[in-house]
Order: sequence, then structure tokens, then C-alpha cells
Amino acid sequence: MTRPRELFVPARIIHVETYDPGEMRKVTLALPETYEVDGRPLPIRDCMHPGSAFLAKPFGVRTRKYRRRMYTRSNCADENPRVLETIINDTHKEKADTSPWWQTDDLVQRCRTGGSIDVCVSYDETRSELVVYQNSRTVDPTTLVLEEDHEWCSMRIVAVALSTGITPFLAYVRYMQSRAFGGTAEGHFSLIVSVKTPRQLMEHQALLDLSREFPQHFSYHPVLTREWPENWAHGKGRIVQVLTDDGRDTRVNLAPLVELEPNLSQCHVRFCGNAPAKDQLVLGLEQAQLVPLSFRSETW
Ligand SMILES: Cc1cc2nc3c(=O)[nH]c(=O)nc-3n(C[C@H](O)[C@H](O)[C@H](O)COP(=O)(O)OP(=O)(O)OC[C@H]3O[C@@H](n4cnc5c(N)ncnc54)[C@H](O)[C@@H]3O)c2cc1C
Repeated sequence: MTRPRELFVPARIIHVETYDPGEMRKVTLALPETYEVDGRPLPIRDCMHPGSAFLAKPFGVRTRKYRRRMYTRSNCADENPRVLETIINDTHKEKADTSPWWQTDDLVQRCRTGGSIDVCVSYDETRSELVVYQNSRTVDPTTLVLEEDHEWCSMRIVAVALSTGITPFLAYVRYMQSRAFGGTAEGHFSLIVSVKTPRQLMEHQALLDLSREFPQHFSYHPVLTREWPENWAHGKGRIVQVLTDDGRDTRVNLAPLVELEPNLSQCHVRFCGNAPAKDQLVLGLEQAQLVPLSFRSETW
């Protein structure tokens, strides 16, 4: 059997939206319908599943090279085939390379002048087609690939998203919305998003509107941790609070999270954000003796 070959195809940068200058952007890339391989135009098929990530080659400001990096897709393949949307933040890590580049004027300039970024596809010679690469199709504790339609539509899912950790869950929401949240099924998706400032709220109004349109199936809890307007009617401060951390006795207070979602032990909990925050959430659940029906997470 021939193994699919990996190829990088230029995807046009069709939209750049800055949420927080220098910190956070939404980027949309469009792959062509076909791409020529060995002199033959081959169709590009997009069957990425909600919650999965694509592989691209952005520029690294530190290494001055194009680097392979993974980005979770925030829109859906069936509604926007070959149009890949993601949200990217500057990590501010000492050796950060590509994440600050996404925030530069260089990206905006490339967008204005029809520039592109290479995106990985798999070339399956036996089927004469290219398929958009996705990092995983497996539903397991270390991925956020959404469960099959017959499963999620009857699950109560609580998703905790820190900052750009909202990306997989935006894909969930869009996918679920396109299927009327499973119609009469009893499932519910609750999205808790924690960001520092109002500028960093992503798709805020659309999510509020959706929660009003489908209250039986979807709720949205935005939480601001550093600054909020006077009339802010939603959550404030950290949803998972570390009370003592002297290296020996860490106590985690989950009360703000439980206030937003009192029935965590009857829910499937999902988390996307940084690794220390995930560890704190897991410890907090343990200490509060809250055992969700399932727990799955991805950390970057
Ligand atoms: C499945 C997946 C999905 C993702 N989705 C998104 C997304 O939607 N949005 C988003 O903003 N980011 C996402 N990321 C993260 C993204 O791919 C980049 O890793 C991130 O933007 C940092 O890139 P960078 O080039 O700036 O830094 P990197 O060069 O990746 O380095 C970041 C830090 O890690 C350290 N480091 C790197 N490699 C190693 C190593 N091998 N060993 C030890 N330390 C190392 C570096 O020193 C540096 O401090 C995702 C990652 C994965 C794996």
C-alpha cells in the first residue's frame, strides 16, 4: 500500500482581524480548489473534523525561517471547505518565533498584496486527490476532536477555554449550529471563555446572540480577568484560583467555575489553554471531589 505523501500548498491570506494589537489575531487562509502535482491538477478535499488542527508554515522572527506549526481551526470544513480560520496569540515566550510574526504588519501587507502561507495536504496517489492534513481524528483524552454526531447531540458538554483556547470550541459551536444543535436531542454545550481584557473577547456578540437563540442547547459565559467595563454583566476574575502554592500544599478554589456550571459531575468537561492551567483545573476537580463524566483537553 502506498503511504500518502505530504505536500505544502500555498493558501492565500484572505483576511486578518486584529482583536488585540500585538497580542491576538484571527487569520483566514484559502486553499485553491485544485493543485498541480507531477503535471496533473488534483482536487483538494477538505474533511477536517471540528476540534482538529491544520499544519502551516508561518515565518519565524527569531530564526528568520519558515517553520512548521499547528493551528486549531475555528471554522468548519462542511460550511467553508478549504477556507481555514484560526486565532493566534503572541506567546511572549523567550524563544517565541512564529507567534510574534502573526501579529506583525508584514502579515497584513502580505494579505493586501495577495500573499500566501503554505498549508499541508496529504497526497494520496491511489485516489488521485489531495486531502487537507489534520493533526488527529481520534476522540481521546489528549485531543479535542468532537465526538460523532449521534454522541455529542445528547451530551452535556462544558468547555473551558483560556484565550485562544476558544478556537476548537468555536468550530464545535459552528458545527453544532449548522445541525440545529441536534434538534430535539437533550444535549447542551456550555462555553466558558476566560480572557484578560474586553479587546480579547472573540466572536463575543455572535456567541451572545446564539445563546439567546438556542438557550436550551447553548450557553456562553465570557469572563474577564484583568479589566472590565463598568456595566460588565458577566464573570470577573479567575475561574480557577490557586490559593496557596509554596511548592508543597497547593489548594485550588473552583468556586467561581462551579458558580457558572454547578453540575460539573454530570457533564463532559473539555479544556483548551496552557498546561499549568489545565493541571490546576484537574487538581481543583480532584480536591472538590468532582468527577466529570469525561475529561478531555489540549494544551499548547
Ligand atoms: C495541536 C495544536 C494546535 C495549536 N493551535 C493553536 C492555535 O489555534 N492558536 C495558537 O496561537 N497556537 C496554537 N498552537 C501553538 C502553535 O503551534 C505554536 O506552538 C505557538 O504559536 C508558538 O509558536 P512559536 O513559533 O512562537 O514558538 P516555538 O518556536 O514553538 O516555541 C515556543 C516555546 O517553546 C519552546 N520549545 C519549542 N520547541 C521545544 C522543544 N522541542 N523542547 C522544549 N522547548 C521547546 C521554545 O523555546 C519557546 O519557549 C497549537 C499547537 C498545537 C500542537
